Amino acid sequence: IGGSIREPTMKVVHISVEMAPVAKVGGLGDVVTSLSRAIQDLGHSVEVILPKYDCLKYNHIHNLQEKESFFWGNTMIRVWNGTVEGLPVIFLEPENGMFWAGCVYGRRDDGHRFGFFCHAALEYLLRSGRRPDIIHCHDWSSAPVSWLFKEQYKQSNLADARVVFTIHNLEFGTALIGKAMAFADKATTVSETYASEVSGNPAIAPHLSKFCGIRNGIDLDIWDPYNDPYIPLPYSSENVAEGKKAAKKELQSKLGLSQTDRPLVGIITRLTAQKGIHLIKHAIWRTLDRNGQVVLLGSAPDPRIQNDFSNLANDLHNSRGDMARLCLHYDEPLSHLIYAAADFTLIPSMFEPCGLTQLIAMRYGSIPVVRRTGGLNDTVFDVDHDRERAAYHGIEPNGFSFDGTDPPAVDYALNRGLSAWYDARDWFNDLCRQVMEQDWSWNRPALDYIELYHNARK
Ligand code: ADP
Repeated sequence: IGGSIREPTMKVVHISVEMAPVAKVGGLGDVVTSLSRAIQDLGHSVEVILPKYDCLKYNHIHNLQEKESFFWGNTMIRVWNGTVEGLPVIFLEPENGMFWAGCVYGRRDDGHRFGFFCHAALEYLLRSGRRPDIIHCHDWSSAPVSWLFKEQYKQSNLADARVVFTIHNLEFGTALIGKAMAFADKATTVSETYASEVSGNPAIAPHLSKFCGIRNGIDLDIWDPYNDPYIPLPYSSENVAEGKKAAKKELQSKLGLSQTDRPLVGIITRLTAQKGIHLIKHAIWRTLDRNGQVVLLGSAPDPRIQNDFSNLANDLHNSRGDMARLCLHYDEPLSHLIYAAADFTLIPSMFEPCGLTQLIAMRYGSIPVVRRTGGLNDTVFDVDHDRERAAYHGIEPNGFSFDGTDPPAVDYALNRGLSAWYDARDWFNDLCRQVMEQDWSWNRPALDYIELYHNARK
C-alpha cells in the first residue's frame, strides 16, 4: 500500500488430498485451487502436492510428466509434475498402490493412506531441496503434516517453514484436528462466525490465540454469467432481468416445467443433515403453496436419504408435475443454469463453515434465503434486519435470513422473499442488480491469508 515498502514474496506449498477440478469431492477442493490462484496472482509462488489417484480427471492436467522417484516408506514413490488451472502441481504416486483405489475417500484405511501421503510429501519437500516459507495443510486428511513437521523435520533443511492449518469442516475427524491445532503455527477456519461458533470445541479451545476465521471466496472466471457456456444469454448487472428470464425459460423447457413467469426457488446442495433437509422439504411445499416453482439439484451420500427424496420426487411429479423438479444427481452444467434461472437460492443449513452456494447465487443475481449460521451469517445480510451490519462491511443488504430450526422459521424468510417478488418487482429487480455487483471473490480474503502467512513467520 504505502508504495515504497514491498512485501517479500512468499513460497507457499499446499499439501492436500483434494484439488478442483482434478480431484474434487467438496468445498475443500475448490478452496485449494481458487485460494492458490489468488495468492499466485498477487505475485507469490504456490505449489500444490496431491496424491496421484488413478481417478484423477487427467484431461484437466497439462504437461503431466514423470520427473523422478525416491524410495521411502518401504515403497518406490514416483513423482510427477503437471499444471492444473495454471498452478504447478506435484503428484506423488507410491508404487504400493495406495492411491489406485478408484476414489479419493471411501476406503476403510483412508486415515492410514493420507497419513502416509502427508509424510511422503514432507519427505519429498526435504529431498527436493525446496525451502518453502509456508506449508499449508487442510482438514483431518492432511492434518498429520502439522505434527510430522514439528516432530521430524524441525531440525532439517525445511526448518525455516511455518505450518498453517485450515479447518474446512470440523465435523470430520476432531481428534486429528486437535493435534494439528496444537502443532500448527497458525490455524484458520473458513469464516469468522464459524470460528466463533467452534471456539468452545475441545479441539479448538486451547489454541484460540493462533486461530482466526477468513471467509472463502469464489473464482470469478469459473462463475461468470457474462461468460458461461451453460446459460443461454450472457448477462451482467446491466441486463440481469433479461438474462435471468432467458435462463428460466431454458430451464423450464429442459425440465418440463410450465413456462409461466413465477418466482423460482433453486436448491443446489449435498443432501445431508448439515444442509437442513427437513427445512428443504418444508420450503418446497411452501413455495408451491404460494404458486412458485422449485428446482432442486442434489445428491445424498446416504442411500436412505436418496431414497426418501426419490419418493418425494415421485409425489411431486405426480401431483405438481409442472411446478417442481428434483434432480437427484451431481451435475455441474445444470447447476450453472439453475443459479442463472432461479430468483431465489435456498440454503437452510443447520451449520455452514463458509458456504460457496450463496456466493455463487449472488454472482448470478439469485437472492439467497439462508439460515443465519457460520459463513452464511457473514455473507448474507437481511434486507429488513441487517442494514447496519451490512453497512459496517461497506455493502447493502443482499438477502433474506432466519434464525430458528423449525418450519415457521424458514417460512419467515421465504415468505418475505416471495412477497417481494409478487408485490414489489421493481424493488426486487434492483436488489438482484445490486447483489450481482457485490464482490465475493478471493480479492479480499487472499490479502488476509498473505497477512496471516507473514504473521506466522514473525
Ligand atoms: P459443501 O462444501 O458443504 O457441499 P458449499 O456451499 O461450500 O457446500 O459448496 C457446494 C458446492 O457444490 C457449490 O459449488 C455447489 O454449486 C456444488 N454442488 C452441490 N451439489 C451439487 C450437485 N448436485 N450438482 C452440482 N453441483 C453441486
